Amino acid sequence: MGNNLKDLKVKLRKFARNRDWDKFHSPKNLSMALNVEASELLEIFQWLTEDQSLNLPKDKLNDAREEIGDIFNYTVRIADRLGIDPLEAAFDKIKKNHKKYPVRKSRGSSRKYTEL
Ligand SMILES: [Mg+2]
Repeated sequence: MGNNLKDLKVKLRKFARNRDWDKFHSPKNLSMALNVEASELLEIFQWLTEDQSLNLPKDKLNDAREEIGDIFNYTVRIADRLGIDPLEAAFDKIKKNHKKYPVRKSRGSSRKYTEL
């Protein structure tokens, strides 16, 4: 098994199927689990300064790596359960964001597109 997105999707499918977890893996439950994992990532940065967040010690960097893995796996799993290609969705979204945030208007600004 390789290490591309399709391989990951299949691996996650098998992981759930072998444990009879498909019954728990509704898009709703998976979305909730994704949110929990995103919060675990957030917790690593809680109370840090901007500078500290950019210079994590090795153990914290590894914790962040693990949470990113969790987040990514849940994202792929939710997409699979909904029949969505997550890479295609991500590329479509960045295309949309190019239109929402034209360089001319958004460069150097943190404003939301509705405020540009
Ligand atoms: Mg986690």
